[in-house]
Amino acid sequence: MENCIFCKIVQGEVPSNKVFENEHVVAFHDISPQAKIHILIIPKKHIPTMNDLETEDAFLLGEIHLAAGQIAKEFGIHESGYRLINNCNQDAGQVVFHIHYHLLGGEKLGALNG
Ligand code: 5GP
Ligand code: ZN
Repeated sequence: MENCIFCKIVQGEVPSNKVFENEHVVAFHDISPQAKIHILIIPKKHIPTMNDLETEDAFLLGEIHLAAGQIAKEFGIHESGYRLINNCNQDAGQVVFHIHYHLLGGEKLGALNG
C-alpha cells in the first residue's frame, strides 16, 4: 500500500526497531512510547482498520496474540502483566490506518479510560 508508514516498515523502507518477525507479523518499538514497554504488533498485510478484517484474515489475530505472548516473555513481563490494545477509527484515536496492536507494560498501567 503506497504511503502507508507501516507497510514501509514491513518492507524495510522506513527504519524500525524490530523485536519480532515471522511470515505474517512484525513487531517493533513505538516511536513515541506511552509506557516503559510499548511495542506495536502488525500484520504484514495492509488492513486499514479492525472493520476491514475479512474472515480469511482471522488467523492473523491469533498470530498477533501469539506474538504478543512471546514478546512479553522475552521482555520478562508475561507474569507481571501487560495490555494489548487496538484503536479503531477516530473516537479511539487511530492515526495510522494499518491495523496494529499496542503491547503496553513494564509498569503498572492506568485505568483504560483514565
Ligand atoms: P494509533 O493511535 O493509530 O493506534 O497508534 C499509532 C502509533 O504508531 C502511535 O503510538 C505512534 O507513536 C506510532 N507510530 C507512528 N508512526 C510511527 C513510525 O514511523 N515508527 C514507529 N515505530 N511508530 C510509529
Ligand atoms: Zn499498510
